[in-house]
Amino acid sequence: MLKNCTNCGGKLYFSPKNKGNVCENCSSIFPVVYDYKFSKKPFEENVIVEKDEFADALENVKCSSCGANLMFNKFQMQSVCPYCGSTTMVKGKKKKLLYIDSIVPFSYSKNEALDLFKSILKKKFYANKKAFKNLTGDDISGVYVNTFVFDFIASSQYYGTLSFTKTVRDRDGTSRTKTIYRDVSGVIDKKFNNVSVEANSNIEQKELTSILPFDYSGAVAFKDDFMNGYILEYQDRMLDDCFKVAENIAKKQIEREILLRYNCDRIERLNLNTTYSDKRYNYCLLPIYIINKIDKKNKHHKVVMNGQTGKVGSLPKDKLRVFLTALFVALGIVGIALLIMYLV
Ligand SMILES: [Zn+2]
Ligand SMILES: [Zn+2]
Repeated sequence: MLKNCTNCGGKLYFSPKNKGNVCENCSSIFPVVYDYKFSKKPFEENVIVEKDEFADALENVKCSSCGANLMFNKFQMQSVCPYCGSTTMVKGKKKKLLYIDSIVPFSYSKNEALDLFKSILKKKFYANKKAFKNLTGDDISGVYVNTFVFDFIASSQYYGTLSFTKTVRDRDGTSRTKTIYRDVSGVIDKKFNNVSVEANSNIEQKELTSILPFDYSGAVAFKDDFMNGYILEYQDRMLDDCFKVAENIAKKQIEREILLRYNCDRIERLNLNTTYSDKRYNYCLLPIYIINKIDKKNKHHKVVMNGQTGKVGSLPKDKLRVFLTALFVALGIVGIALLIMYLV
């Protein structure tokens, strides 16, 4: 673990382009090894780090405005909340940290993120461009959010009734749809890999979903060298709770597969009894950029970006443009109606 530049003592920040830490002061580069070989661990190894150099160097900070819980490296304290743009950040109680297994490192820098965002904003007709005028480096934060990534085997017994509709032709040549019912029962075993569940609540699931997917083949074994210049979100959902979410994701897929087995497209009733075995997990950090801007009317605008792929979440809309378009469309329809009435 590297704390400061060994050449001049300056502050370091992680540079995706250089695949390493760069000194703010003398520009020395300290490469970080990307170790893609790591494995998921069994549930029994659900350990909280008791004594750890990395965890000890973190400060808990809470936003008094939106309640966001964050972990700052002592060197990276910032006074603006990445979630709501508020400046009311207070030091919180020291919290324990779950052992971090892996990390998907940022693949582009804050400045590159701003450039990318600006070029996308320009192309979107309905986006509220005024809200993001004069963006600077202070308006963007890089945050690592927490996720559990699961592997497991789901073994299910099922029975129930499925159905599908088909078009049949009567003797007189008229066609109609008919529902066919099928009573089914059986067993199905399925292996699941990389089912990911968000493990914190500061980023809304909706926001996170809008910038999925992350490519887990780009994940590497965790090293705190990747953290310089970035904030870590405090993990506040437990492993077991998150696995319940993974179970629901799995159940939906199993149901789809059972339907496929019988060429059906609807479940009339289905009793699914599933047991999960060989449960393994990874506590993984995912890179997200958050752009915050508070406009002149004190209105808060926020956009999230996938720090690995560059995918941008939904942009605030320019209400005037949306309204004018709707108005023109409505006027157009009235105009055509009048024209038809006139012609007929
Ligand atoms: Zn230096
Ligand atoms: Zn906040």
